[in-house]
Amino acid sequence: MNEECGVFGIFNQSQQKLDVAKLAYLGIFALQHRGQESAGIAVSSGKNILIYRDLGLVSEVFDEGILNTLQGNAAIGHVRYSTAGANNWENSQPILNQYPGGSFSLAHNGHLINQNELKENLSSKSLLLKKRNADSHLLCQLIGATEKKDIEKALEEVVLKIKGAFCLVVLTENKLIGLRDNFGFHPLVLGKSEEGYVISSEDSALPLINAKYIREIKPGEMVVIEKNSCKSRQLIPCKQKALCIFEHIYFARPDSNVFGENVAVIRERIGQKLAQEHPVDADMVIPVPDSGRFAALGYSQGSGIPYQEGLLKNPYIGRTFIQPNQILREHSVKLKLSPIPGIVNGKRIVMVDDSIVRGTTSRKLVKLLKNAGAKEVHVRISSPPVNCPCHYGIDTPKREELWATRFSVEQISQWIGADSLGYISLEGLTGVFEKNQPSDFCTACFSGKYPI
Ligand code: SF4
Repeated sequence: MNEECGVFGIFNQSQQKLDVAKLAYLGIFALQHRGQESAGIAVSSGKNILIYRDLGLVSEVFDEGILNTLQGNAAIGHVRYSTAGANNWENSQPILNQYPGGSFSLAHNGHLINQNELKENLSSKSLLLKKRNADSHLLCQLIGATEKKDIEKALEEVVLKIKGAFCLVVLTENKLIGLRDNFGFHPLVLGKSEEGYVISSEDSALPLINAKYIREIKPGEMVVIEKNSCKSRQLIPCKQKALCIFEHIYFARPDSNVFGENVAVIRERIGQKLAQEHPVDADMVIPVPDSGRFAALGYSQGSGIPYQEGLLKNPYIGRTFIQPNQILREHSVKLKLSPIPGIVNGKRIVMVDDSIVRGTTSRKLVKLLKNAGAKEVHVRISSPPVNCPCHYGIDTPKREELWATRFSVEQISQWIGADSLGYISLEGLTGVFEKNQPSDFCTACFSGKYPI
């Protein structure tokens, strides 16, 4: 499973000169884990909007010279993983378009599920854009096609037509707007700095630019920031929440607070619950770095089995790990992770990971650990079996490639070469939250119950 996208916005309300592009750069740098295929920043000078975007990591796309050309009072930024549409320059964001009131730029995290219906509504003038796959282009085209001169009204008109998951940041010459779908699939937060306001996919991006967390933007809410105001409106009523539970299991940074709860703390609790549900006699608990780390700590706390680092992650792996096919992915596991024989040799190990999607990575890792001398490898997974694809902005394989749909837990355990395999139950997982009820979450990739 791959992350979706990260969005960021900043508005300088003060008279002070502020390098908003460099602050947006820091913002999307902090959100890099949400997408590593392209990065972009749009800046408004108050009169016009300038955009720079390209394929690559944030640090590869931007340098000092480029950032110096992006001068203005407000900016939005985006990092992308291509969940819909090819990984090409055209689909990188933010995107610039016109609407009857002027220009706007848009960055989107999520996925729309009624694209075909929406494309039907576009006029023949938009035929060229109709052919583009990314739903973000479609959104821009729909906003451009409204007859509204007021961007807030144009957004309202479009948002009432679209279905799916969307966190949007929109920049006009004089406004920064943040908007979240009414199911609240993915997180979007509002922050405050001395000079103005910040919007971000995750609050962990805020301290880097000396901004403070104010609150989450609510499902269905639109926040509009201008020179002298920051106002909010419930654009679409939220009848039922569908918070993506995978944000807590894997996608979000451990230091982020997502849906009101800290990600690292939740992962620890999941690990503790996993230890209760699937106990085993072993000498050490090791994580699959990095996303399995806090769940492994929790498993260690819950079981009393010592925690150790038994797999070393190559910190320079970068995007090598994002490979388009199975064969290359097999090699990339070895490139990314190697066992530490001095630690695992002769030991009975509990290896904690966040999920099993195709099973290839787990199989490789069990083999690597056994080759390094591990006596037993018990695999514990901090999510329930992934049975169904996601339609809300997470890149999942097709249903037939998801192992849990085809094989039993015993069969998967055997295939990956583990001595035992245990997944946390869905009830166990949704029960670890304190501020959210089990029914507040989208769990469709485990249960097949799609909220839309
Ligand atoms: S289907 Fe799974 S990955 Fe997709 S939004 Fe729901 S919980 Fe998240």
